[in-house]
Amino acid sequence: MPTRATKRGDERTPLQIDCDVLICGASFAGLTVARELATSPARPRVVVVDRYEIGERQTSACAVPLPWLALLGLTDAVLQRFDEIVAHSPDRTFSWALPEPFVTFDYRKLCRLLADQGDFVFETAKVEGLGRPSSVAGGPLTVLTDRGPIRAPLVVDALGWRRVLAPAGEDAIQPPEAFLSRGLEVHPEGRSDELALYLNPRYVPDGYSWSFPAGGEVRVGVGSFDPHHHVKDPTLRLVADLEREPHGFQGNWIPHKLRSSTGGGVFFVGDSAGHCLPLTAEGIRPAFHFGIALGRELRHVVEGRQTREQALRRYASASAQKDPAYRWLLRLQRLVGRVIPHRRTLDAALRLTSPPSVGRRAWGAYLHTLSASTWAASDPGPAPADAELAAPAEPVPTV
Ligand SMILES: Cc1cc2nc3c(=O)[nH]c(=O)nc-3n(C[C@H](O)[C@H](O)[C@H](O)COP(=O)(O)OP(=O)(O)OC[C@H]3O[C@@H](n4cnc5c(N)ncnc54)[C@H](O)[C@@H]3O)c2cc1C
Repeated sequence: MPTRATKRGDERTPLQIDCDVLICGASFAGLTVARELATSPARPRVVVVDRYEIGERQTSACAVPLPWLALLGLTDAVLQRFDEIVAHSPDRTFSWALPEPFVTFDYRKLCRLLADQGDFVFETAKVEGLGRPSSVAGGPLTVLTDRGPIRAPLVVDALGWRRVLAPAGEDAIQPPEAFLSRGLEVHPEGRSDELALYLNPRYVPDGYSWSFPAGGEVRVGVGSFDPHHHVKDPTLRLVADLEREPHGFQGNWIPHKLRSSTGGGVFFVGDSAGHCLPLTAEGIRPAFHFGIALGRELRHVVEGRQTREQALRRYASASAQKDPAYRWLLRLQRLVGRVIPHRRTLDAALRLTSPPSVGRRAWGAYLHTLSASTWAASDPGPAPADAELAAPAEPVPTV
């Protein structure tokens, strides 16, 4: 169970903590890493920091394949379940049968359930960057926050696309020039049974729009693959077309290219490593997947079975192994962006993929990229073999 030591306003006391593992960011990726560490017999001192309370700021439509929530014991957060996706072109409606159901969930509740499986101290603090490196090789890193420094030998950046702990000079490109999509949505009250996508240049010529029901609300939004394209007016247009009210705006940049998953001794996971999948902008499943992978590497370190440097190499390699799939999806994303403005080609492509057997196969291949079944065995696995440790990590492109 996480414990909280700080509050807001006057209660925000100065921080000066030493711990074994510092996880920056308490959303999907960070909380999954913490969960993985909780059952270690080494009982590491884990600190999780976020600028907001756990579950306070939703940044997603919160749709995910159900097997991931089953794997992580999070199904109590499910609000609605879908066995197909309905795709609307400007002129026609198609549907894709799914090989496994998607669900929408309650963000706050899911974060709570995930955090309850962790064993950490939680602090609200704004992470500002890395302090001066230790003079000892492999020594602790210092993370600077608005409440003071925190020192730990193992530091995780799960802070989202901003990648706050990136080594100085890296990733100097900022939006809208960076490899980022942009997404915005509103949460009007209402009900529907359709997990719907809109491939329609009326809203966005290079991207897609969605309407995801979640119990008593519908999450309606627009995502543009081209970060120069603003999405507020298109979101308002879509909400008006759906005859709903534009309540509760939330938006963010969404990475669509893998970035280095390690750097300066820090582990990056989730959006901070560009783990969100291109084309669909599905980032929760990757945050779970790489959160587990990273948590297991860190377990080996705290249990004395490998060094931090070995964990950095192995984790970088595990992330880079998925690079071909990410590149494929990015190519598809570019293709889809080119097809959407051409109605007849778009309808032909949707018609081709809509028979249930084709749809299931196509979505099955996509979902297989990061499958919950990879982690079905709960055992974190044996200590890494020397041969594995010696394997050089594939180079990963940076933004
Ligand atoms: C509009 C929209 C809809 C989306 N819908 C879906 C969807 O339906 N399904 C899906 O799979 N993906 C969706 N995504 C993508 C998904 O939201 C992200 O990929 C996912 O949230 C990444 O998880 P994360 O844990 O890496 O980062 P985040 O969820 O972004 O979490 C980062 C955490 O770090 C904290 N933080 C950031 N900076 C600091 C700082 N300086 N100091 C302290 N704390 C900080 C934040 O408060 C936050 O808690 C959507 C994205 C958008 C923008």
